Amino acid sequence: QKNNSADISTSTLSSILEKNKHYYKDGAVADYIPELSKVNPVSVALSVVDNNGKIISVGDSNQKFTMQSVSKIIALMLAVMENSEESVFEKMGYYGTDRPFNHFANLETTGKPLNPMMNAGAILTTSLISGQGEEAFVKILEMIRYITNNPSINYSQAVYQSEKETGHRNRGMFYLMKNTGAITGSEEQLDNYFRQCSIEITTEDLAKIGYFFANQCTRYDGDRRYENSALAKLILSQMLIAGMYEFSGEYARTVGLPSKSGVGGGIVVSVPHRIGIGVFSPALDSHGNSLAGYHMILDLAKTYELSIF
Ligand code: GLU
Repeated sequence: QKNNSADISTSTLSSILEKNKHYYKDGAVADYIPELSKVNPVSVALSVVDNNGKIISVGDSNQKFTMQSVSKIIALMLAVMENSEESVFEKMGYYGTDRPFNHFANLETTGKPLNPMMNAGAILTTSLISGQGEEAFVKILEMIRYITNNPSINYSQAVYQSEKETGHRNRGMFYLMKNTGAITGSEEQLDNYFRQCSIEITTEDLAKIGYFFANQCTRYDGDRRYENSALAKLILSQMLIAGMYEFSGEYARTVGLPSKSGVGGGIVVSVPHRIGIGVFSPALDSHGNSLAGYHMILDLAKTYELSIF
């Protein structure tokens, strides 16, 4: 018998969380910057925005964590809104990948990032958002505040400083793209990428973002200011092919839902035309995806038959 996602209950979510939270023990908290390794590894949370826009949360859903790569979908949204899909994808590919998130991939040979979900493509995407200094970042932050209807969202100065001080690989990609002419601005544009990675959110915020892209860029409370089904389709397709880094193919087979993870331990999931899901558990697998987060999503997708396939 098929479960209806309108009937998602707190007790089902609780039991999914309890059953899968132990997976954090098999993963490792990101430690490429000291700031990220300070997080409590046992924190775990799961939130859903159901098809009536109702928010259901279990676990540490007030726990803030940095968005990291989840911010890449918002940057893509803004870059496409300002420049058109055609012009953005003249500069980067629609390819999936077998390479880790921070791999240079084709950058040196073709000059084009593989896709906007890996770091190179995301750094380029953010540089395509217009504005002086911090303005492009502020647009990303404001869009996240709008989608979540949460004006208190901000970024962590400490994580930002850490990202900036240690992000030499990202800086290398930035300068390679400056060399090819794909990027024309100054290093302030790279700072905007570091800032967007440092935005702090909760699983409720993630679930609202998931809902937004699942429902043609409409907000969980019914606000339709940015309604755009073509844009939602583009974002969802990118999440599906590359949102879980080089694990995306296997994830498509096992979970079958457009999703985007970040090394802060969050994953956002969109169930097209239905619901949004946000999970958090900071211990990551070898691909940089939250391990307990993945298992909670897998369980939820099976329980409610959410796969798009
Ligand atoms: N700040 C990280 C980086 O740019 C984000 C990566 C991620 O979440 O995948 O390396």
